[in-house]
Parts: sequence; structure tokens; C-alpha cells
Amino acid sequence: MKTMNADLHCHSTVSDGLLSPSAVVERAHANGVDLLALTDHDELAGLAEARARAEALGMGFVDGAELSVSWCDETVHIVGLGFDPTHPALVAGLKQVRDGRDTRAQRMSDDLARIGIRGVFEGAMRYVGNPALISRSHFARYLVEIGVARDVANVFEHYLVRGKPGFVEHEWASLEDALGWIHAAGGLAVIAHPGRTRCAKADLVRLFERFKDLGGEAIEVVSGTQSGADALEFARVARRYGFLASRVSDFHGPGESAVDIGRSEMLPPDLTPVWTRLV
Ligand code: AMP
Ligand code: MN
Ligand code: MN
Ligand code: MN
Repeated sequence: MKTMNADLHCHSTVSDGLLSPSAVVERAHANGVDLLALTDHDELAGLAEARARAEALGMGFVDGAELSVSWCDETVHIVGLGFDPTHPALVAGLKQVRDGRDTRAQRMSDDLARIGIRGVFEGAMRYVGNPALISRSHFARYLVEIGVARDVANVFEHYLVRGKPGFVEHEWASLEDALGWIHAAGGLAVIAHPGRTRCAKADLVRLFERFKDLGGEAIEVVSGTQSGADALEFARVARRYGFLASRVSDFHGPGESAVDIGRSEMLPPDLTPVWTRLV
């Protein structure tokens, strides 16, 4: 069980991934994944299709979502796993989070127009697979298309982040609400890619403590978007707080994500994998 190929965080076109939910599942299966969670940002709409495809292929599947949360004036991401995707509190909470995205996107576009880059909202919409879910990734792909930056990573160095054109402050869910919705729906809560949060060190420690107090269960120790040094650091955090450990790719699409589905490093063997509570 510890050595199974589990990948518990990835995206489809229902949020900012490049592949449909079915294509994500097929790629996971082809890559030898035993247990997959689809975790689109703030959205559950891809889960039924993904589950049906996984069941047809005989591959394990876990319902998931990656929730946008405000913490210390920054955004942190909390993955929910193994919940009832029809639970009213979760469904309503995620709708509320999604609903803020349109106005934010319009304001991002207005901010870019001020430096002479016009029509970005409309351009980004051409990359959106789900009209309820416009994200900075769609902006980034359009900015690459019009030659403003050479690739998506380069966009996020010069635009769309704090202090740069196209950045807009936004209030996401509170940590309390996010864990409340996940737990009400019977799921487990996981701190996503803690190595990528832009919080000060002390605020990250406060996040671990508050998350633990709220009954948060797990932390991503290995993520395709974190370094090997991060894995060592967050393995220590998992031991210290008694968190279960997750292993993920955070795959968004071929050519865009550094690590393919199911191809992340394995977890340190002394940690208890979060999937021991999901299968
Ligand atoms: P949003 O939820 O609209 O704020 O968009 C966040 C998404 O942007 C993340 O889930 C990533 O997919 C993408 N993103 C953020 N920072 C970077 C980065 N430095 N490089 C590539 N993609 C990024
Ligand atoms: Mn994303
Ligand atoms: Mn994330
Ligand atoms: Mn993600």
C-alpha cells in the first residue's frame, strides 16, 4: 500500500488543466497510476466524468478539489479528498468562491490595459474550458500567445503576481470555512504545496498550527511543483505535527508541467500516506 502509485492532485479543463477529465484519467492509467484524485480549482464538475472513466479502466479514483484560501494576505491552497461531491455545504461554498473570479479577472484585465496590453479578458476566455472558472493560468497562456512573455513560467515572473501588472488583491475562502466544507462532506483536508506559499515563515508555522487545531489531516510532502529540499522540510513538518503525507504531481498539462501524472518521487518510507485513509 505504501509503495502504490498514488497521485492525489491534478487538473483538467474544468479548471486550468489542458486535458479533459477523461484524458487526465487515461494518461494516469497509461503512466501506471493505481489511485488518482482529480482536484480542479474550486470546482467539482469534472468528477463524475473522471470517475466513470477510471472505473471503466479499473483504476482507483478519489473525488477531490483544490480550494483557494486567503491566509496572511496571501493565497494558500487546501486540497480536499474523498468527500461526497454532492454535499450541499461543499457545493455552495465552492460556488461562492468561484463567483468572485469573474470580477477579479475583469480587474486584472483592466490593470493590464493600463500598461497598454488590451483585450486580455476576452483573450484569456478563449483558453477557458469552464466559463465558471477563469484563472491566472488562462491569462498566462494568452499573454504567451500574444508574445508578451516566452512561456507561462515567464509570465508569472513579470505579470499577475504581487507588485506586477495584472495582480489584483482577492479575498478567497477562509481556512475555517474551507476545512468546514471538506469535513462536513466527509473528506480529508491536505495543505497543498506548502513550499510555494508566499507567506512569511512565521505565518506558515501559524498555518500548520491552525490547520492542525481545525482537524486538518495531511500535507503534500512530495509535489511536482516543489523541490527535493521542500520534500525533506515538509516530511519533518509531517512528523512534527502528526500529519499524513500526500504525494502528487499537480499536473496541468503536457509541455506546461515539469512532472507528469504519477511520476513524482516516492514518499519517505516512515511517513503514513494519506491514501491509507482513502482506500
Ligand atoms: P488563480 O487560482 O487564478 O490565482 O491561478 C493560480 C494558478 O496559476 C495556479 O494553480 C497555477 O496553475 C498557476 N500558477 C501560479 N503561479 C505559477 C507559476 N509561477 N508558474 C506557473 N503557473 C503558475
Ligand atoms: Mn492551477
Ligand atoms: Mn495550487
Ligand atoms: Mn493544483
